[in-house]
Order: sequence, then structure tokens, then C-alpha cells
Amino acid sequence: LLKLDGVTVRFGARAALDSVDLAVAEHEIVCVLGPSGSGKSTLLRVVAGLQPADTGRVLLAGTDLSGTPVHRRGVGLMFQDHQLFPQRDVGGNVSFGPRMRGADRAEQRRRVAELLELVGLPGAQGRAIASLSGGEQQRVALARALAPEPRLLMLDEPLGQLDRGLRERLVIELRELFGRLGTTVLAVTHDQGEAFALADRVVVMRDGRIAQAGTPLEVWRRPADEFVARFLGFDN
Ligand code: ATP
Ligand code: MG
Repeated sequence: LLKLDGVTVRFGARAALDSVDLAVAEHEIVCVLGPSGSGKSTLLRVVAGLQPADTGRVLLAGTDLSGTPVHRRGVGLMFQDHQLFPQRDVGGNVSFGPRMRGADRAEQRRRVAELLELVGLPGAQGRAIASLSGGEQQRVALARALAPEPRLLMLDEPLGQLDRGLRERLVIELRELFGRLGTTVLAVTHDQGEAFALADRVVVMRDGRIAQAGTPLEVWRRPADEFVARFLGFDN
């Protein structure tokens, strides 16, 4: 579904992405792991069209995306610093996607209720964004990203601020949900437990390059090099 071909992004002398090749199959869940500054968010931003590539191509279903405006790409994106609409209530934030896709009011209400249930905030439709905790806001942002059922969903640290119990529950429910909807997912996380539980394939990044890509089991059993082994915690 998604293909990156020699994608490089430079900021001054430094390459945030250094000729990255990556293919993501339809219905696949890929988790990107790597230290801070290794280029994970930049990778998602290039695919979303928020960051132009200096060289290389991004293809979605065979089409070069460089000329396609962000909102027409059919990709959903949840940022690391999830930007909710502060002037809208929870329901208004979550229904933003379905509303844009022309669902009727009853359908919108049903889907919003279902999504809020999923993220553990049942009945929160009428609450003001400012009244929510950081973790609750993150869950609303997750519900909003899921709402339009995009073909390709990109999540940047979607569960970052949540406590462990909720993260573990959500990972299992998300995996089930993505399978049911047939969503293709490219997610960034720094939590390898989360990546290994969620992903069909993990990608480990280092300094803008892919250090290793493989199934969780492959990467776990045979880290490609010392960097990957260390990153996974096999350092003694
Ligand atoms: P984190 O885990 O901390 O979120 P990351 O892997 O997402 O890190 P990126 O945000 O992709 O890292 O950044 C990769 C590199 O590119 C970093 O060195 C960062 O400082 C740099 N970078 C990213 N965006 C910009 C920008 N707009 N201008 C200059 N440098 C940038
Ligand atoms: Mg980041």
C-alpha cells in the first residue's frame, strides 16, 4: 500500500531521514522504534505530506504523493503533540472526521459513542477539552484519528502519556479493531513491549536510517547489529 523509495530529508547538514526504503503492505501493522531524534516523526510527517522529501519518492497505492494535498491523501495522522480543537467539545472533536466524510447525524453519534467507549471515555461527548487530563486528551485524539477509518493510519506515540494498564488494554483492543477494519497502520512508539504486541513488523531506526526491519520475533531473536541489540536491552 505504502512505499518509500530512497527518501531523504535534511535539516541543514544533518539528515533526519537518510535514503529510507520502506514498504508497508495493505492491512499490515508496522511499528517504528528508535531513540529520540532518530527520525521517527519525520518519517510519518513525510508520508502525511507535512514535510517535503529532499530526494526520493513516497507512493501510496502506486501513486506518487508529492502532488497530492494533505487532506486528499487518505491517510490519518495522530501527532505526538495531539492538537485537539479546544473550542469544540469531545464529541465535536471525535466526529470531525466522519462529519467531513458526510455521515448523517445518527451515524456520527453512534460512531462517536463507540469510539469513546473503545478508548475508555464512555459518555464524555459533552466535556470541554480543557477539562480533560493529558492522558484523556490523548485518548480523544486517538478516537478522532480512528473516526474517518483512513486506509493508512499513522500514529506518533499514540499511547505515550497513558498508564501501563490502559496501554496494555488499548494495544490489544486496537489490534483487534485494526484487523476488523482492515486498517493499515504505521505507528511510532518508544515502548518496545507495545511495538512487539501491536505490530506485524517492527522497524528500528538509527540516525535517519533503518537499522533493522522484521517481524517482532525475527528482531527479538536475531538483532541485526549491536545497536539494535542494545536498543532492545540485550546490553549485558
Ligand atoms: P523523538 O523520539 O524524540 O520524538 P524522533 O525519532 O521522532 O524523536 P524526529 O522528530 O524525526 O525524531 O527528528 C529527527 C531529527 O531531525 C532530530 O535531530 C531533529 O532535531 C531534527 N528535526 C526534526 N524536525 C526538524 C525541523 N523542523 N528543523 C530542524 N531539525 C529538525
Ligand atoms: Mg518524534
